[in-house]
Amino acid sequence: MFGDLFEEDFSFIANNHCGKGKKSKPRESEPPAPRDFTNLSGIKNQGGTCYLNSLLQTLLFTPEFREALFSLGPEELGTLDDSRKPDAKVRIIPLQLQRLFAQLLLLDQQAASTTDLTESFGWSSHEEMRQHDVQELNRILFSALETSLVGTSGHDLINRLYHGIVVNQIVCKECKNVSERQEDFLDLTVAVKGVAGLEEALWNMYVEEEYFENDNLYRCGACDKLVEASKSAKLRKLPPFLTISLLRFNFDFEKCERYKETSCYTFPIQINLRPFCEQTEMDDSEYMYELFSVIIHKGGCYGGHYHVYIRDVDELGNWQLQEEEDGLIEEKALRDTENAKETENPLAVLKGILSEEEAKQIPVDQLGQKLLEKKGMSWNKKYRKQYGALRKYLQNHPQIFQLSPDGNKVGLKETHKLLFKLDSHGQNLQSPSQKNDVQWNCEKTPPRPRATSAGCHWFDLNDSKVQPIKEKDIEKQFQGKESAYMLFYRKAQLKRPPEARGNPRYQIPEHLLNEMNAANTELQKKRAECDSANNGIDLHLHLSSCYKFHNGALHPSLSWKESVVDLTIDRRKTLGDLRQAVFQMLESWEGDMVLSMAKPLPAGLHLYQVLDGDELTLDGIGLADGADIFVWNGKEVGGTKVLTGPEHEPVVLNVLRLAEHNEGGKGQHFSEAQHVFSCSTSLGQLHSALAPAGGIILKNGSGADREAKNWEVFHEEDMKETVRSVGLRDGCSVLILDSHDQSFVNVASGNLTAFTYDISWLQVKNFCGVEEEEKHIKITATIETVMADIKMKAIRELQLEEELASESCLRPVSGNGKLLSPVPEDYTVKEAELKMGSLLGLCRGKAPTSTQLFLYFMVGSDQNCGPEMEIVVEETASVRECLNLMLEKSGLSGDNWHLRRLDWCYEAGEALSQENATLKELNVCRGDTLVITEGKLPGKGFLEIPIWWLKPSSHKKHGENAQDQVNGITWKMEALQVSAAAAPPEPTRLGLDLCYAGRIEIAGEASLEDLKMQSVVPWHLCHGHWL
Ligand SMILES: [Zn+2]
Repeated sequence: MFGDLFEEDFSFIANNHCGKGKKSKPRESEPPAPRDFTNLSGIKNQGGTCYLNSLLQTLLFTPEFREALFSLGPEELGTLDDSRKPDAKVRIIPLQLQRLFAQLLLLDQQAASTTDLTESFGWSSHEEMRQHDVQELNRILFSALETSLVGTSGHDLINRLYHGIVVNQIVCKECKNVSERQEDFLDLTVAVKGVAGLEEALWNMYVEEEYFENDNLYRCGACDKLVEASKSAKLRKLPPFLTISLLRFNFDFEKCERYKETSCYTFPIQINLRPFCEQTEMDDSEYMYELFSVIIHKGGCYGGHYHVYIRDVDELGNWQLQEEEDGLIEEKALRDTENAKETENPLAVLKGILSEEEAKQIPVDQLGQKLLEKKGMSWNKKYRKQYGALRKYLQNHPQIFQLSPDGNKVGLKETHKLLFKLDSHGQNLQSPSQKNDVQWNCEKTPPRPRATSAGCHWFDLNDSKVQPIKEKDIEKQFQGKESAYMLFYRKAQLKRPPEARGNPRYQIPEHLLNEMNAANTELQKKRAECDSANNGIDLHLHLSSCYKFHNGALHPSLSWKESVVDLTIDRRKTLGDLRQAVFQMLESWEGDMVLSMAKPLPAGLHLYQVLDGDELTLDGIGLADGADIFVWNGKEVGGTKVLTGPEHEPVVLNVLRLAEHNEGGKGQHFSEAQHVFSCSTSLGQLHSALAPAGGIILKNGSGADREAKNWEVFHEEDMKETVRSVGLRDGCSVLILDSHDQSFVNVASGNLTAFTYDISWLQVKNFCGVEEEEKHIKITATIETVMADIKMKAIRELQLEEELASESCLRPVSGNGKLLSPVPEDYTVKEAELKMGSLLGLCRGKAPTSTQLFLYFMVGSDQNCGPEMEIVVEETASVRECLNLMLEKSGLSGDNWHLRRLDWCYEAGEALSQENATLKELNVCRGDTLVITEGKLPGKGFLEIPIWWLKPSSHKKHGENAQDQVNGITWKMEALQVSAAAAPPEPTRLGLDLCYAGRIEIAGEASLEDLKMQSVVPWHLCHGHWL
């Protein structure tokens, strides 16, 4: 599963670099990293071998051990080269250890491998390695070495350095007979549980005596009876190197499980072992030991990690950096400790006070009092907050304080008192400043005789990592999950020869020195090779002689491969070096040589900046592996001037056009062609190149992700924008829609499947032909498309003669098939108020301009009209002019005619009485119908009012009703608001019979009385009655 993931990952990367030269270089042969600034070598972790590494480093930094090992020559051990020979006596373990030590001392690598060594132990699997504990390993390793060195001068190597003797004695109280038993040791195991530190543990083991008394008596061999006796143990022989194993891992019998003791367990940098020895009369120096290695276990009891703090006795490593830093840090630390003295650890303070007491125990209250007297502070004020009540605190440290059964008195436990005094007497160990201070405490570094920091170069060796540390850091390992596990002391008397100082070659046998020298030479060589390989870059040189410039970019005249020369060069070389190399490679080159950065783009090769500054390094000018460089004269290629730089980058656009038409516009395909434009091309140029006959360009907003909804129309105001500024990039699509294109594209799956809101089509039917044609064609249009374009496309689509264009017009066809008023050619679809999808008729005759009116007219009377005719007149023409044209067209003559509008029931309605007004002023609109009506118009200022007579169905007087009708009407006729175009009012009153009496003409200025008078006349003439 994860394999797939990685494969995918890799292919992605490979694709990214496709065409960009080589893949990443193989790294297998890369030499190991050199040592870091400490100049010490770590040891690789082979999988759970950190404990081995810690131990090996400890042995390495035991100069006496490694020198003893190195002193064993091939004549005693044989050689590793002979190890495969059947009869050869080869002692592999010491040989491998020698070699490993030589590598750790001399080979310039960050970490050495222990594989050969562990194989010499017969450990082949990780399991075998993990089985061991470091304390156990120490014994196994020593045992293996001893066995392996039997019969050589090194047979006693381990014994010489590590062997000590403990003597156990039982003294019979009666006969004073001493029963004695000796124990050999290579390391001492000391308790941790319930013990405050190493000294206390040693005190318990080698100072305290055990008594056989009362019920527990000892059977004395001399007395041959049960007697009182004392039992004690002493160190009889001290080894030069004392190894201490701490019993951090215990077994909890109640819980029945192993656990790690994480309590505080101090150990001194220097220790005087005299109190624990059988013989105590020698010089103090015989008993002094110095800590030089601390193996640390981090983790729980079923696992964890080991690392080791080691003192670099011979100063082989570089501790300098750390030392300098320390100068500053220690200065500050010194100041801090002055302040910190007040808040000293209470344990130390209390122990100091109690140790000065003559009485074995003092009351706890008195201890508090003495604290106040001696240190100027009370327990409650200084410690209570952090440590709790004094009595409780004393109870919590039973290994140090002895409380009386009632808990009121306290004293130091005997061991502490004695040890304290003993330490105080070792005057020579203390610096004057420490004499008067508290001597024994967990927190303070024990005194050391070294005047300077010389020789206390400590390092933390953690597998392959080596770091300098401060001696004080050791105190961090006194307690906790990460704490000291094995301690290594060396006898202080052991002095190192001056020539060993800082000299890792000291005492290494010649053959190993040679081997390491050779290995280092090989390493250096490999690193140089690798370095050079890592710095080598492949450049692709494109030679101008192999290129032609066409279609907006450079294209190789031969195959791509033949036009490119690969050159590998060190990135640290200069541009001048590169130019020289190119000159040499080309053999013959005339004139200037210009090197330009090039980049293969989809359109072809494009050139960028000229490489300049021959003294600069290739790295410095930013030449990367796989860069393309064009070699030319800097001006032209094959006679064509080449524009360079990002502002002239060629862009390949997909140009889509509708390929053909299908009814309904669905399932339609588009043609796709690639065109190259400079990114600085304006949209205007683009438009005229792609749609010379007009039309619209749409941009697919999201490039490769083609979705119909992302098509955007470039508007007229965009035409000054450039290809780049509107975001057209390589692979972007533009759609060219000629105005006759009938549909719009949803590019998903390449089919035309959708229309957009602002793009649609109109239908056109040919009405010019003689015979009835059924063919409708569809023309794509937006609401901005101009009618002239639609007409032209329609003529082409209908395969009519082009000349027809000037002799035809487009007329909307109404739902019932009537040809409506022609649309002005300069109108847009929107202005013409055409609904998308509506049908237009292509008809003979000129279309009106936008200042002309197309009007219908007919000759008729009030009741019936003749056939409808059409006419085009300027909207600025007067009513009279319009009438004359119409009369002319209808073959009528004379001046007894006037024009009326067609009313709501398709009858002659309101008269256009203002004969000198223009049609526009009178609001005559395109498509209106006018009726030529016989008779003269009323004079100016006259109104024509239809008159209805009310015939009473009852015997009511006419006058009453007539009076009712004119109630509230002012005396001015104009105020009657009788519309000039008003139709005869509908008779609606019930119970009344209305009789249309015809129209009367009356001046607008006339009074209602005048109207009455006039109205009576026609009626009177007809009916002989008066109003
Ligand atoms: Zn006895």
